Amino acid sequence: MLEFYKQNFAIVEIVSCTKCGSLLAFECQGGDSMGLAVNELGKIIIPIGAALQSSRVRLDEAPTGERMMGYQCGAPVPNPMLATVKAEHEAALAQYEAD
Ligand SMILES: [Zn+2]
Repeated sequence: MLEFYKQNFAIVEIVSCTKCGSLLAFECQGGDSMGLAVNELGKIIIPIGAALQSSRVRLDEAPTGERMMGYQCGAPVPNPMLATVKAEHEAALAQYEAD
């Protein structure tokens, strides 16, 4: 996929989530848009997989005055408390049914 977009655009950047590391999208610039939507920064956002929930041009600016993109990651993250909470729920349910 990356090679295909590198052949069609001057700039291809890979966007990944800073929290979980999931690959989210390619940011492509400088080439034939191939019918894809170009945003107001001149970028085409192409999702990778299913983790990207949304993207938009941010209303604020970087300290350099540059406009930035914002991305929302929806990759599932394991909850370390899940087993504990499930066990507590099962115990409370068993107690309720015993009463
Ligand atoms: Zn993430």
